[in-house]
Amino acid sequence: VEKSNKKISGEVIKRLPRYYRYLGDLKKSGLTKISSTELSRRMNVTPSQIRQDLNCFGGFGQQGYGYNIENLYNSIGKILGLDSTVDTVIIGAGNLGSALANYKGFESRGFKLIGIFDTSSEKIGTIIADCEVLPLQDLEDFCKKNMPKIAMITVPKGAASEVAEYAAKCGIKGFLNFTYTDVTVPEGVAVENMHISDHLMMLSYKTQNM
Ligand code: NAD
Repeated sequence: VEKSNKKISGEVIKRLPRYYRYLGDLKKSGLTKISSTELSRRMNVTPSQIRQDLNCFGGFGQQGYGYNIENLYNSIGKILGLDSTVDTVIIGAGNLGSALANYKGFESRGFKLIGIFDTSSEKIGTIIADCEVLPLQDLEDFCKKNMPKIAMITVPKGAASEVAEYAAKCGIKGFLNFTYTDVTVPEGVAVENMHISDHLMMLSYKTQNM
């Protein structure tokens, strides 16, 4: 499969991680092939949606055979850039930053934590998940040497924009922003916002109208 991401719509890309997760579980369970009907049943999506989505990048199922799970899993992984390790850093070594650092699940999906940064003298020099917390001002040199691609931002809200701007200058290409504010980044840099409170508010709305 070519890395022709440009041709794949944002909507399809949004759905790829879920396909990747299901296919990974199917692969683990020892299955080698699956029909679009069966995949659709498990994922609760229509078979035509599955066929449309997977055809976008040439993941054609064979008539009467279905999809080869491993091939499809690898193809989607390649499109998502997970065919090699994605080096990641955490900025903000507080409650959330430490919890994320200690979570082993990211590494099993190819995201390797290679550095943690903070500005507080109480945090700098401490060890979290086998990583020494480094002063934020060292990020530039660190990036030159190690070229991390992604940063998770877990600083207080007020520091988020400044931190993202600096880290983008250092060469970070994507941010997972956990602070409750929308950070703006230069062109060519991507942000995914994890506004947990937004989801809580939606849940609050839904549960009061049940
Ligand atoms: P925290 O106070 O425990 O940690 C924040 C850390 O950021 C501290 O170690 C602090 O020294 C560091 N910091 C401050 N300014 C910095 C800067 N300019 N550069 C680098 N590091 C800096 O807070 P927390 O509970 O971990 O929350 C962090 C962010 O995540 C907040 O914006 C919060 O709203 C958001 N958040 C937290 C949770 C949670 O469960 N803790 C949930 C959702 C969202």
